[in-house]
Amino acid sequence: MLCIPVTAADTEAAILQMHRAKSLADAIEIRLDYIREPVLERLFRHRPPLPVIATCRPEREGGQFRGSEEKRLGILRKAEELGADYVDVEMSAVGRYRRGKAKLIVSFHDFSETPEDLEEILERLASAGGDIVKVVTTARSITDNVRVLRLLREAEVPMVAFCMGRLGQVSRVLAEKFGSVFTLCSLESGKESAPGQLPAREMRETYRAGKLGEGTAVYGLIGNPVEHSGSPCVHNAAFDETGFDAVYVPFEVTDLGRFLGEFRELGARGYSVTVPHKEGIIAELDSVDEMARAIGAVNTVFERNGRLVGTNTDWKAAMEPLEKAAREKLGKEDGLRGLRVAVVGAGGAARAIVFGLKERDARVVILNRTATRARSLAEEIGASWGGLDMLEGVEAEVMVNATSVGMYPKVEETPVPASILRPGMLVFDVVYNPAETRLLREARERGCATLGGMEMFVGQAAMQFEIWTGKAAPREVMQRAAEGFVFGEKREESIFLIGYRCTGKSVVGQALARALGRGFVDTDEVIEKAAGKSAREVFSSDGEEFFRDLETAALGGGCEGKGRVVAVGGGAVLRQANIEAMKEAGKVILLKARAETIRRRMAADPRTKGLRPSLTAGDALSEVEEVLEARREAYERAADWEVETDGVSVKEVVGRIAQLLSSRKY
Ligand code: NAP
Repeated sequence: MLCIPVTAADTEAAILQMHRAKSLADAIEIRLDYIREPVLERLFRHRPPLPVIATCRPEREGGQFRGSEEKRLGILRKAEELGADYVDVEMSAVGRYRRGKAKLIVSFHDFSETPEDLEEILERLASAGGDIVKVVTTARSITDNVRVLRLLREAEVPMVAFCMGRLGQVSRVLAEKFGSVFTLCSLESGKESAPGQLPAREMRETYRAGKLGEGTAVYGLIGNPVEHSGSPCVHNAAFDETGFDAVYVPFEVTDLGRFLGEFRELGARGYSVTVPHKEGIIAELDSVDEMARAIGAVNTVFERNGRLVGTNTDWKAAMEPLEKAAREKLGKEDGLRGLRVAVVGAGGAARAIVFGLKERDARVVILNRTATRARSLAEEIGASWGGLDMLEGVEAEVMVNATSVGMYPKVEETPVPASILRPGMLVFDVVYNPAETRLLREARERGCATLGGMEMFVGQAAMQFEIWTGKAAPREVMQRAAEGFVFGEKREESIFLIGYRCTGKSVVGQALARALGRGFVDTDEVIEKAAGKSAREVFSSDGEEFFRDLETAALGGGCEGKGRVVAVGGGAVLRQANIEAMKEAGKVILLKARAETIRRRMAADPRTKGLRPSLTAGDALSEVEEVLEARREAYERAADWEVETDGVSVKEVVGRIAQLLSSRKY
């Protein structure tokens, strides 16, 4: 059962939150300690048709209630009389609480650690006369989760248990599998009632909440850090699509040996492995296949007959699309055999790729910033090597970037000068964010065939899925999930840039579209095309209302397609219908600038010098100020995010927007 705490500060806001939560929650916890002067009759009259838990947590147990104990327990008693289905009373107060018809949850919280005497705590809670016991501690290491989940698995009374904090998120997800009566999650980011709560949508859509049971297999990502990994989205989407009863969670691991031992006991069946554990994990496994041992890195762990086995799917995931591209784009029937391939980089990704290339009989040259690293790798596989200064003279049919250069947020960097890219060359970039790196863009512009890193990323995950499940991987679903994660929004959602003129909507829009590999459109251009005349002419001959109608039509039509970056006319927000159309079709970003900056940019920009249909002939600065003030409320109402453009380069604005999009947590 997924329970969302209502953490509003007053009664009206609490009613609103309860109703926003109802489509995502199985139960609602009203945190009465958060509400100033809660009007309980109104709250319960408007409760949604879901089980309601009444909680009024005192400060000493991490809550916000500061009044007397008598008053606090009185509030709970009244909530119970008004129909609360459950009442949560702390173990420290349960002796003084006169219970009624609601189920009584007796709870224990530890905000600093997961104590050693968990079993004794459970015994005391179980003998306190409640219907459900609740143990909530703080995880200080990933293995604290194991202790709490073990307690849950072995409890003989109905129980809720999980750990708080970032390291405890694993237990919030897995609590359902181990029989917790409910687990808590926030309505959305920023509305948590305790540290580590994940947003409800993420719990449902990424972590499959509501679908886990005793038999659910556990898989996960071992790394550090793991917070920003797309792997949970990709793997859980695949489990969901194929009906495979499993869940995939990120594990932030410091002590590998201890982690592997303890999670084995909880039924974990396989792992992806990432930085910094790809090499170190080899010593902890029962066996490792030949190729992974040669590469010196394991990115996949699976269980066979009770033994943990390591393999590497990165190299194959790189070779498959590369070989296909060599055949289809370069017309090489033998695939990579005999092809001259220059690999830039000598780190982990480069190792997997050059071992793969050697296995496919390609002729490899390794070029790296630190030339000695290139040399030692080259010597291992019998390849040529050099520093990056050798790029100019290199004769290659295939160029591979296996460094992180060009990766978001440094999207304007490239590891290979454009001058050496020749038509007919195949260029492969392991970087997958952005989808088209500067290297790939310049390669495409120079007539090269190109291949991005997303196929490799999805490929390595798909191969892991197949090893773990024995089923064919749903690659398209995994690809969509990966793109959705990387770009932070669904590909079909458009990105609308709003703001007053000269806030950079067109320039930023075009650069953003390039960085994200999307189409760009300007509403004024769509209007001009529809009207057959310039925007200024439409304004002067047909009037503002007609112009605005065309604008509404353009926005209603999604500006001729989905997934676009759209620069929106400055006055579009004056119509509520336009705001709704934009919000329906995607995300709305307000580009902001000070009035003085706008006036200066208008004076300097030949396109806007004489085009001021909404301005009078008076003082330009005060006109800009007036219009900005008049539209301020509408801009703020329309915007999902606001981005400053004052004193910031276009590149920085694009970087900030890309960051907002990719950090989006529902
Ligand atoms: P790594 O082991 O840390 O190696 C980094 C490599 O990049 C080294 O060769 C390093 O050169 C080079 N490098 C870093 N900054 C540089 C700069 N400013 N100029 C020139 N060279 C620079 O990292 P990795 O695990 O190989 O990962 C590399 C990239 O591959 C990352 O972007 C990662 O996301 C990506 N990757 C993608 C996939 C996929 O599925 N598509 C899979 C794995 C990795 P030095 O030796 O001189 O330091």
